[in-house]
Amino acid sequence: MYLDIIIPCYNEEAVISETHRRIIEVMANKNFTFEITYVNDGSKDKTLQILKEIANNDSRVKILDFSRNFGHQPAVSAGLANSNSDFVAIIDADLQDPPECILEMLEKAEQDQADVVYGVREVRKGETWFKKMTAKAFYRMLNYFSEYKIPVDTGDFRLMRRNVVEAFNQLPERQKYIRGLVAWLGFKQVPIFYKRDARFAGETHYPFFKMVSFAMRGLLYFSKKPLQISTNLGISCVVFALLFLCISLVRYFIDKSSFASGWTSTITLVVFFGGIQLITIGVLGAYLGNLFDEVKGRPEYIIKKIYQKNVDL
Ligand code: UDP
Ligand code: MG
Repeated sequence: MYLDIIIPCYNEEAVISETHRRIIEVMANKNFTFEITYVNDGSKDKTLQILKEIANNDSRVKILDFSRNFGHQPAVSAGLANSNSDFVAIIDADLQDPPECILEMLEKAEQDQADVVYGVREVRKGETWFKKMTAKAFYRMLNYFSEYKIPVDTGDFRLMRRNVVEAFNQLPERQKYIRGLVAWLGFKQVPIFYKRDARFAGETHYPFFKMVSFAMRGLLYFSKKPLQISTNLGISCVVFALLFLCISLVRYFIDKSSFASGWTSTITLVVFFGGIQLITIGVLGAYLGNLFDEVKGRPEYIIKKIYQKNVDL
């Protein structure tokens, strides 16, 4: 049995040696063969240099070096597209997901004859309460909005069988929200629960705005409900405006003398409807923007070079 471990890396010089050491330690002397694919996502620090040293001493290591920073999801997609083993595990470079869990996932996959074993975060250490709270709320909201069920509190830390990886690699969309797409693929998927540690070293590469745009991708690619909500909002506004008109007319006929007032209500209504229009146009624009990106059909990532010891690539 062959296992490929995919590790996306962006500016991870502080952790990458330790990550490699831990993974080798965990995978040593097991009854399967493994290799590790590091995807260097345009790191600006010494990550590539350290990875090359690692690859020079270990023929089980392969490096996919991107031409620039394309993002976490494209890095994982590249790893999946370049793997050909029986099982593929996806794990972050910062040791937040314990490598020992991969063994548990393999066991679970064999036991349950599962095609995907995904990690569900029971505890998240070393993350701000704000991140934990927003993440928890987001996954539940996504599930409500989504036309397909996407497991909550689940990242990309997972094990996938060859058949699932091949199905995934056939998906034509460019901006992949991997955890959602894998759920969409079907097959037999089972969870394992684990405690997410704090980052071993270094800093998160998902600051607030990047997190929001990642969440938006999940939402826009898995749900058309925001469009529906915009329409409903529009209809509610029209109903509200008509009611307001009726009330004003009634007031006018009851007591004409007091009717000169009304500046506040006029301005309020203008701003209110203006806001609603902008919001709905914004929602439409978000879908259109994604459509534009998809239609352009640019590749998700560009690999500058592949490094592997004793293999001329
Ligand atoms: N990552 C990447 N490209 C990016 C941002 C992040 O390859 O543009 C990698 C990063 O090196 C790590 C994983 O994606 O292995 C998750 O990132 P991070 O730990 O910073 O996110 P967090 O765990 O804080 O959400
Ligand atoms: Mg992390």
